[in-house]
Amino acid sequence: MIRAIWFLGLLAAISYAAARLADNPGEVSLNWLGYRIETTAGILLTGLLVISLVLATIFRIWSYFRGIPRRVVRARGEWRRRRGYKALTLGMVAVAAGDAGEARRQARKAEKFLAEPPLTRLLSAQAAQLAGDDEAAGKFFEAMAEEPETKYLGIHGLLNQKLHEGDTEGAMELAEQASDMKPKTEAVSSTLFDLQIKNGDWDGAEDTVRKSVRAKYLDRETGQRRRGILKYQRSIEVESEGHIGEALQLAQRANALAPSFVPAAMRKAKLLADAGKRRKAVSVIEEAWVRNPHPGLARLMDDIGHANNPSDRLHALEKLAGYNKDSVESHLAVAEAALGAELWDEARQHLEAVADDDAPARVCRLMAELEDAENGNSELARDWLKRAALAAPDPAWVCGNCGNVLAEWQPVCDRCDKFDSFNWQSPPRVMRLEPNEIDAAGQSDLDLDNPAVG
Ligand SMILES: [Zn+2]
Repeated sequence: MIRAIWFLGLLAAISYAAARLADNPGEVSLNWLGYRIETTAGILLTGLLVISLVLATIFRIWSYFRGIPRRVVRARGEWRRRRGYKALTLGMVAVAAGDAGEARRQARKAEKFLAEPPLTRLLSAQAAQLAGDDEAAGKFFEAMAEEPETKYLGIHGLLNQKLHEGDTEGAMELAEQASDMKPKTEAVSSTLFDLQIKNGDWDGAEDTVRKSVRAKYLDRETGQRRRGILKYQRSIEVESEGHIGEALQLAQRANALAPSFVPAAMRKAKLLADAGKRRKAVSVIEEAWVRNPHPGLARLMDDIGHANNPSDRLHALEKLAGYNKDSVESHLAVAEAALGAELWDEARQHLEAVADDDAPARVCRLMAELEDAENGNSELARDWLKRAALAAPDPAWVCGNCGNVLAEWQPVCDRCDKFDSFNWQSPPRVMRLEPNEIDAAGQSDLDLDNPAVG
């Protein structure tokens, strides 16, 4: 609309100017280099207009021809870039499909057409890796690690190579660099933590746990427990180096961070007892018993207490049991000590309290021992032993991830490499037969699984 108004305005102005010129043709006279031109103002203006138009057209044609080489170069660059990106895409598809030959071909094409190393190196490295050429892949990753834009990708690639080679120390260094660059990346922190554990770098691992809690992908409670376990490991290490005082401090810290982690409580109690602080050691065991009545604590009470005198031993264990009266472990600890002191009534009382239909194997074995020792009733004792064979296996440290069973707690499962995966529990059985099925099958054909830790 505005353009139409403009056009109409312009037309009106030209018509007006033409009319004015026609009405007042005027006279123009030019004397130049011996030529004389006489004409009207209208013809002179028209002539000037025509000359301008001709010059403008010539200039445009000249510019067009002058721009041809530049346009050819630009078109060629565009063509190369398009082919380069296509090769890059096809190469990535080939990597995803696991086609090593095609991946390498496309990587070379992309390198040739794009001439932008940061863009094509990753594909080249992946293609080399796929073709099993780790050395070439390593060179590409190293080159990537040099450039600021691709540094992280390069380090990550090299880290995976070291992991593949089994070089845990080299991998740990690279994982530290990667974690420093991207502290909020969970996968990197988790890899770094696993490597620190594998290399026994307990302090480094604790630092990683702290960072993980701060980055909020590890909850506070799990973080504290992990830190407790790491302090516990450090305490073992320091003790082996002969620094007993520091070992005790670390065990105390471990116990404070992870109160439900029995090995730390036991370590703290043992080191306290070794340092002559027997009463403190006993109170640590009693405190742990309230939360976690573990047979190891009762054994430790024996070790630091009056293991040589059966009646003192019974007394100490009765006191310990008093801190968690209803626990099976409390009854078992007292029953065992009572058997040792030949106090049959007390032993029977505690065993019968837990000898129900689901009585664990240890209860059945102690019942057999009692029947044999008190009344010489070997038939009844045999019955109890038969029940023990069928009862739930005695608790042990069972890996929650792969079912591995250990007698001693370990920070990492040697079968599945998982950290803090062991729980104190009855190991699972493959098969459980009812007693009448056993009678039918005959004793010799029993196909019971082997509780790895009895
Ligand atoms: Zn495991």
